[in-house]
Order: sequence, then structure tokens, then C-alpha cells
Amino acid sequence: MATSRNDIHNNKKNLYCRDARANEIIRILGESPFKTGKGYHIRECPYGTECKGAHRKEEIQIYSHIYKWNNLDKSKYDFIKMYNEILDSINKEKNKARSNNDFKIKLENINKLNFIDLINLWHDLACFYRKLAKKIPKKNANYSESMHISGYTYSEDVPKFYLSEELEDPCWSMVRTINMCAVHQTFKENYLKKQKVTIWDICLGDKNCKEGVHNINEQLCTEDFLNGKCTCVSKEDYDKKINSLNEKISYYEKNKPNSYQNKINNLLNEISNNQRKIHYTEEGMIPFNIQLENYKKEIEEKEKEQKIEENKSIGKVFKISLKRK
Ligand SMILES: [Zn+2]
Ligand SMILES: [Zn+2]
Ligand SMILES: [Zn+2]
Repeated sequence: MATSRNDIHNNKKNLYCRDARANEIIRILGESPFKTGKGYHIRECPYGTECKGAHRKEEIQIYSHIYKWNNLDKSKYDFIKMYNEILDSINKEKNKARSNNDFKIKLENINKLNFIDLINLWHDLACFYRKLAKKIPKKNANYSESMHISGYTYSEDVPKFYLSEELEDPCWSMVRTINMCAVHQTFKENYLKKQKVTIWDICLGDKNCKEGVHNINEQLCTEDFLNGKCTCVSKEDYDKKINSLNEKISYYEKNKPNSYQNKINNLLNEISNNQRKIHYTEEGMIPFNIQLENYKKEIEEKEKEQKIEENKSIGKVFKISLKRK
């Protein structure tokens, strides 16, 4: 997937260390959500500074493609090109997509899917078939020819749903902002239900998680993306609320009444529980459905003009041939 070679060669820490993350969660929550046992003890990481995982959130180096995407000017980004390329890629290879009935109905209606459903479908297809292709021998490998259980003989026969180099990374980055990481989501739900989990149930991806985002304030508001309208609290009201909470925190920090640390912690909790999704239209993006409508109109206009031109030239040829007779 979209992990650049540089990220790996620089030996940067892109993911959390499991031991350190478990301890950090206990610190943040003020209690342990974990059950312990053989193979899932809570311990200090034995590798210390030599550990390949990050011990603190600040140590995690964000992947360059995710960083680029997060900081890109969405008002200028060509989402129509992205949409068209995804559609082309799926159309080109959908007849080769076998052995998974979940995709069938969606593939029959891809022209009707909105951008969000389309890019999610592309993500699921690419994940499923690229993974499958790795399990099947290549044509020139010295294996005896036998059909894989999936119905493919060679790895090359499996559709990969590749996009152009220019669009692969942005698409992976875009699709992760749409979805919440299921592992992290389940962890949070279990915590609320007071159901204990093990250290193997936590996701170490954080801001580099491939499965999705971990926080609402990293997640894209898809209604806003498509239509420019949504039911989220307005940015103005949201900012007001967060500002007033921050003012209260500064007040407690200055005046230090009894139990001020408790009060500050409660306010900090309230801030982190009051998150708002990302709205691209607030960055100046025109809602996608309007962009698509305009694009389709443009195409129609061009086709009409072309037809008029064609009719004109047919007319000319007709006149010339009449004159000749
Ligand atoms: Zn470690
Ligand atoms: Zn995750
Ligand atoms: Zn919204």
C-alpha cells in the first residue's frame, strides 16, 4: 500500500509500541481497561530507546502521503479527476472480479454511486484483490498449473484496480479520512461497556492508521463533502464552546482553587469529547455533487457543439457533391 520507501529506510517510528501504548492508555483513562494473563501482560517496554515503536504520540512520524493530503488545498484539488479515474479503473477490471459476491450488486450500479460510496468500493476491491493476488503464483514461477480456490490460475489474472501513480497515494489518504478505524472503535465501545480487553485489541496506527482515523476531528464530514450541508454543530458555535472551555482552564490555572487539577482534567476531557469533523467546504471546496453536475453539463455542451460542427461539415460535403453533379 502507500507506505513510501523513504519512510521505511529512515527508520522512523510510524507506529506505537504496544507496551508503551497500553501504559499510555491506562495513564490517560486513570484506570486500566485491560485484563491480563499469559501473553498479554501489562509491562514496561523492555527495548527502551531501541524500540522500533513510538513510546509517545509526539514520536510518531506521520507518513508523507498522509501529511501531504492533510495539508493540501482542498479548494483547488481536482476531485472530478479522482472520481473519473476510480470509475475508469473499476470499469476496466470489474469483469475480472470473481469469487466475491459482496461486490456484485455494487459493481452493477457503480455509475449511480456517490463519490464516497465509490471510493469506499474501490478501497475494498483494491484491498481484497491485491491481497488475493499475493497468494496466487505468478505466471513464470515454476509451479505446476493449478487453479487457485478463488478461480484464478495466475496472480496476473487477478484485477488489482490500480490507479495512476499520481492518484494512488491521495486516494488511500482520502479514504482513510472517511472511515473510523474499526479496531479503535471497538476498543472505545468496549471501554464504555466496561468490558475488559487485552493489549492485543488496541490499534497502534494512530495518525498513520491505514484502516481509518481514530478521532472525530480527523474524520471527514461526508455530507458536507457531497452537498455542502450537514447536521454537525456549526463551526461558529463549536469554536465558541471550545474557547469558553479553554478560558475556564486558564482561569483555574491562574487562580489555583482547591482541586484545580481535577477541574482542569474534567475540562480537558470535555474538550476531547467535543470534537467536530473536518469540513472541506470551510476550506473553500465547492461541494462535490455541484462540481460533478457542472462537469456533466460541460461535457454535454461540448458534445452538442461537436454535433453541430459535424452536421455543418456534413452539410458542406453534401452541397459540394450536389454542385459536382
Ligand atoms: Zn517499546
Ligand atoms: Zn487504527
Ligand atoms: Zn458536518
